[in-house]
Amino acid sequence: MPLDTAPAPLVDGFGRTVNYLRLSVTDRCDLRCTYCMAERMTFLPRRDVLSLEELARLSDLFIRHGARKLRITGGEPLVRRDIMDLFRDLSRHLATGALDELTLTTNGTLLARHAAALAACGVRRVNVSLDTLDADRYRAITRLGDIRMVLAGIDAALEAGLKVKLNAVASRGAFEGEVDDLIRFAHARGMDLTLIEEMPLGETGLDRNQSVLSLRDLERDLAARWTLSPLRRSTGGPARYVRVNETGGLIGLISPMSCNFCALCNRVRVSCTGQLYTCLGDDSAVDLRGPLRHSDTAALDALRAALMVKPERHAFDMSRMAGTAVPRHMSALGG
Ligand code: SAM
Ligand code: SF4
Repeated sequence: MPLDTAPAPLVDGFGRTVNYLRLSVTDRCDLRCTYCMAERMTFLPRRDVLSLEELARLSDLFIRHGARKLRITGGEPLVRRDIMDLFRDLSRHLATGALDELTLTTNGTLLARHAAALAACGVRRVNVSLDTLDADRYRAITRLGDIRMVLAGIDAALEAGLKVKLNAVASRGAFEGEVDDLIRFAHARGMDLTLIEEMPLGETGLDRNQSVLSLRDLERDLAARWTLSPLRRSTGGPARYVRVNETGGLIGLISPMSCNFCALCNRVRVSCTGQLYTCLGDDSAVDLRGPLRHSDTAALDALRAALMVKPERHAFDMSRMAGTAVPRHMSALGG
């Protein structure tokens, strides 16, 4: 290849350019959220998980071939030992301009410890998952969590100059009574709030038919109390945005079950074992770890072949669902 030719971008079989990688760095977590994990989880043996060097090599490969955005996720990314070494390594791509954005999704429990270092690595935005402001409810949802740690993490992130977005999984019942408080809390601090419709990933011991709340219903309910102005803004992802006139802040609505966003999909996900998932609603994966351990060229070939069979649209179907549509837990891959 001539030296001045940029490496070919990653394009799928439907002509969609893939420029966004969500990379899971661990399947482990310090919490056990009821919609995400079972109370007793068996985690992967460490030898199956990509090393930090392999995670960096894989990221480099994506970035060389046009990935402009990289989101680190998990499990809980901040529980991975030496994870800041990976952020420091990846930050050079921000410095060269090869990457537009390096970001992470976290439960926030360890954010107070790492916020300043993340900002120093060029991270500008973080998503923090928080479904309630009530300490007891937080403990019940997460089975293990102390909300004070998350609130301290959010404060530290804001102090470090990070833009924080809150993610909340919508559910029937108490959540519906708490969502207004979450809106006020987020918007008073300059944070957007994204409401996520629960997805049927993995057996968690929860009857999802009882818990799933349609965001269409929730939005209708919110519109009775707040003035919501729809925004025309696409991230290539599943979120729709509305502005809350009373607060000036934004609410994102992610409804993978009831809303078709697939035509704009620009992203793929890689698990911490190097399995490439080209669609969140499809459990078939392509192994990149084996090829990566052979060579970068082999990994790139496997990646390009997998993109050719990226589904045109996802296949969740609640009506056919007897509890769980996709057996893999959300924590295996990240949001
Ligand atoms: N541990 C980090 C966290 O909680 O932010 C990152 C990984 S977590 C799997 C990523 C996102 O997925 C979180 O916002 C979480 O609320 C969301 N999530 C987990 N299980 C889900 C499910 N079954 N349906 C929809 N969202 C889910
Ligand atoms: Fe852990 Fe995040 Fe899953 Fe909660 S949603 S159990 S914090 S990985």
